[in-house]
Amino acid sequence: MDNNIPTLRLRRGKEESLDRFHPWVFSGALVAMPDNIDEGELVYVETSEGRRVGTGHFQIGSIAVRMLTFEDETIDENFYRNRLSEALRLRQALGLIRPDNDAFRLVHGEGDFLPGLVVDIYGPTAVVQAHSPGMHFARDIIARQLIDLPGLDIRNVYYKSETTLPYKAHLDPQNQYIIGSAENDIATENGLRFRIDWLKGQKTGFFVDQRDNRSLLEHYSKGRRVLNMFCYTGGFSVYAMRGGAERVTSVDSSAKAIALTDANIDLNYPGDNRHNAVAEDAFKFLDNMEDGAYDLIILDPPAFAKHRSALRNALRGYQKLNAKAFEKITSGGIIFTFSCSQAVNKEQFRLAVFSAAAQTGRKVRILHQLTQPADHPVNIYHPEGEYLKGLILYVE
Ligand code: SAH
Repeated sequence: MDNNIPTLRLRRGKEESLDRFHPWVFSGALVAMPDNIDEGELVYVETSEGRRVGTGHFQIGSIAVRMLTFEDETIDENFYRNRLSEALRLRQALGLIRPDNDAFRLVHGEGDFLPGLVVDIYGPTAVVQAHSPGMHFARDIIARQLIDLPGLDIRNVYYKSETTLPYKAHLDPQNQYIIGSAENDIATENGLRFRIDWLKGQKTGFFVDQRDNRSLLEHYSKGRRVLNMFCYTGGFSVYAMRGGAERVTSVDSSAKAIALTDANIDLNYPGDNRHNAVAEDAFKFLDNMEDGAYDLIILDPPAFAKHRSALRNALRGYQKLNAKAFEKITSGGIIFTFSCSQAVNKEQFRLAVFSAAAQTGRKVRILHQLTQPADHPVNIYHPEGEYLKGLILYVE
């Protein structure tokens, strides 16, 4: 017990979800929202009877506390070292750290019992993203522990939280190297090489969460004409090339993404003329495309619903996009379709895709139901951590 750490009291009966280890305390569950505690400070949380339930990071907003521990544990360097070591042990068990694979997610927030923290590894560089003020203030400790982590040779830590921290907290987080500065920005995933731009790219620079789904795509690509919509860095396209696709077209509305895709194809398949990339709006491209021009289509759009309020529009968006693909794909074609919106659940997404199929009248079967890979684990007490949904469909 540290006397400098303030204690927040829960309303009667509000300890139930915490007793089941759900890591969020909503502001409405507290007797009073304190006005003398700074955002990011450590707080103890106790029941209305005064029983301590654990320790977390305080924040102003609908989630008032993100719980770090439900035990009598001090939150210090040791705490972060232990949690990071546990996270690494899991990735080692998953077989993700190999000479031909050095890109993976080391920390997936609540899924690794570190709410508010994301760490992606690209070879010797760790890209750290804070989603809570508490993790923002802990960034130097975390960076130091990453460098010292036995079993991983991290030499650079890049901190990238300008767009992930609550704007109102006025933390002014600058994207910058905390330790080192990387020259080598090429990472390897399942033996394929990718130029990763964590400085200017989206999120941490690469979507490691599609690794397993890209492998599945490789398996289905042989002899097919593949269309990769919303290609970003061209991850799916590079796998399709290795899988023996007859030709691959990559589409993204961002010219920067198209340049990244071209560079990644060049890195793995220099001079291979099976690939072309087009900077265009996905909906427009599908509208103008010839019927039956492709027999494998990937739809991996950005999150259409960033918040629950946008849900209805998002579902309409997924329906519209999928309907266009159903209309145009050859008979015997395959569609990989995804949603990464946390606000859209599996059933809602499937219903949107069902509606699209019904609207076009195509005969559609589900071959696989996809999700995020094991280095994005879901804490069983925090089902909100499951966000990536996908379907592989066979269309007649
Ligand atoms: N499939 C990618 C990740 C996609 S991220 C991967 O495996 O890594 C979403 C991408 O969609 C971004 O690159 C963004 O530029 C692009 N995008 C957003 N709106 C778009 C639109 N209307 N048409 C085409 N691309 C779009």
